[in-house]
Amino acid sequence: MEDYKTLDFDILPVGASRLDGVDLSNLAFGKVFSDHMFVMDCVEGVWQRGEISAYGPMTFSPAMMSLHYGQAIFEGMKAFRQKDGTVSMFRPGENIKRFNLSAQRMGMPEMPEDTFFQALVELLKLDINWVPSHADSALYIRPFMFATESHVGVRPSKKYRFCIFTCPVGAYYTKPVKVKVELHYTRAAEGGTGGAKAAGNYAGSLFPTELAKSQGYDQILWTDAATHQNVEECGTMNVAFVLGDTMVVPQTSDTVLAGITRASAVALMQQQGVKVEERKVTVQELVEAAKNGTLKEAFGLGTAATVSSICTLGLPEVDWDLPPVESWVIAPKVKELLDGVRYGSGEDHFGWNIPI
Ligand SMILES: *Cc1c(COP(=O)(O)O)cnc(C)c1O
Repeated sequence: MEDYKTLDFDILPVGASRLDGVDLSNLAFGKVFSDHMFVMDCVEGVWQRGEISAYGPMTFSPAMMSLHYGQAIFEGMKAFRQKDGTVSMFRPGENIKRFNLSAQRMGMPEMPEDTFFQALVELLKLDINWVPSHADSALYIRPFMFATESHVGVRPSKKYRFCIFTCPVGAYYTKPVKVKVELHYTRAAEGGTGGAKAAGNYAGSLFPTELAKSQGYDQILWTDAATHQNVEECGTMNVAFVLGDTMVVPQTSDTVLAGITRASAVALMQQQGVKVEERKVTVQELVEAAKNGTLKEAFGLGTAATVSSICTLGLPEVDWDLPPVESWVIAPKVKELLDGVRYGSGEDHFGWNIPI
């Protein structure tokens, strides 16, 4: 028997699982939710006793501060069914650390790392059968926190709710994406909140993205707020380019979120002996490289889609097409090695997998 007394939350399993009604082989992303969720409240800086119980609706006051002033942050991570049938989380410690950095930036309380980790483990143990085993599928894990005090007037909330729920998911993007190099709208600025996974960042990206879609693109390639000369991120993913034989990745900053997929791809490629540069990448440089044939590959990196190939860079005057994806070397290698670790079919040299 588990000694639940050592946990600072209660575990109340559901009577009957909803899993029987779910087809894990045919999953839309983020539409199906597992049986349980974790909930813990923070009042005046003190975390209260938490609970794992049935996933379901919550009731709040219309004056709940997160609805008005936007203190809301989240994480996105995954657990994978291993080749041998067991389940592992991929680098959860990195998500926990980043969550608390986001909390700090948004004036919210930090979640104690051990409580966060234990909550993940216990939640996954309870919903272990929801972790799908089909190719490219995973259990997506969504920790988040939002201000819950009822109060009108701008200041940090005195109450917060921390939650975790999970979704079994299939593959994300399928085909290569056309990206619009965004020369007007801005996702993030120096000194802003772009380095945090703050809900409002995504709200601000929606209109420009819809506009890009109406112009025939799939996503935005964000550039820096001050000059629109430097490439930062692709949609809600980090971005990488292959210039000649070098993988070039914009360096992380206030405006480029420190993605775990990005960091993992850099480490894996360096280990493979590929030359990797983390630095400023200019739009001009990409256009020159596209013209002279040295721009070989361009791809997004993120937990949801892992690797998302970019087939076209859209500028006002001209769309630059990349070489056909079939000729790419680095992006498929990143995907192969990352998947090898995450699904337990390859070497986990760095000890990234944390078994449940
Ligand atoms: C979450 C996110 C990423 C990717 O981070 P991962 O840890 O790799 O999932 C990149 N950019 C933005 C803006 C994000 O929100």
